[in-house]
Amino acid sequence: MSEPRRSRCPVCGSAGVGPSLTGLYDDRYGYPGRFDLFACAACGHQFLDAVFSAEELQQLYTNFYPRAERQLEQWQPHRELGAIRLWLGRGRNAVFRWVPRGVKVLDVGCGFGESLGYHRARGCEVWGVETDENIRRVAGRFDFKVHVGVFRAADFPRDYFDFVTLDQVIEHAADPVTLLRDAAAVLRPGGTVLVSTPNARSLMARALGPRWAHWHTPYHLQLFSRQSLAAAAQAAGLRVRWCRILTSPQWYHFQWLHLLSRPAPGVPSAFWTTGRAWPRTRWLARKFFSGLNRLGFNHAVSFVFDHLGQGDNLVMALERTHG
Ligand SMILES: [Zn+2]
Repeated sequence: MSEPRRSRCPVCGSAGVGPSLTGLYDDRYGYPGRFDLFACAACGHQFLDAVFSAEELQQLYTNFYPRAERQLEQWQPHRELGAIRLWLGRGRNAVFRWVPRGVKVLDVGCGFGESLGYHRARGCEVWGVETDENIRRVAGRFDFKVHVGVFRAADFPRDYFDFVTLDQVIEHAADPVTLLRDAAAVLRPGGTVLVSTPNARSLMARALGPRWAHWHTPYHLQLFSRQSLAAAAQAAGLRVRWCRILTSPQWYHFQWLHLLSRPAPGVPSAFWTTGRAWPRTRWLARKFFSGLNRLGFNHAVSFVFDHLGQGDNLVMALERTHG
């Protein structure tokens, strides 16, 4: 049994960790190297056995992760969806859609700011944090309050926000408990942290093994289960108010195309990166899956899997319990 570089579970601190999946690699953008996933016997958490230096992280996210050149002219806020579209598309897989009108909200990892516009249109006082410099252009143009850099509680007023949202962010954190603790610190007592993250104990994760799209090696360092996300919340002084499995149908469409286009280590994928040709033998299969998607196949898959508690995405509401 190989020993992980990080010998304790980053969520519960247990030393009972062992290999879970070995030899994972960046099957989207071609970052070189192989990585091992470890699992904690105590809380079920899985984590990537990788410790990056600041320079390596800079290189990883600047040269490999596609920070697409987003056009300011095409910027649009997320729109409000009607009840039927919200239900059909499982729109509440994204936690910004759980935030009510007229509250104070901080969006951690706000990307290109589409949710900031959504909250503002609904009468919220909205702040954002983002490490990607592209957000500066949006914030400057539309006058959003955005901190560019990593999220630290010290950069924000304490005991202030009604809601803090972390949409597909916590799995990228080297220290997820500290991230949640910082989120709790800027929340008013009784406020809510909303988290969405891949469900690494889903049916697809177990069935597909290394070919599951959401290992997303080496960008996803933390692979949560229901139990381990709850354990992380507890360690950060938060209480689980509710947990749901809600998965975007599009994730399943992406999964099928990911399977069809999975490259060798060190090679960028034709599906996840632009400007690379698809393997010629796969174009018919790709057409087939696109047809299935248009017929609503992936909507059916996500409804069934989610209702069995086996879908690919976890959504959790966490409450700050003490002052
Ligand atoms: Zn653990």
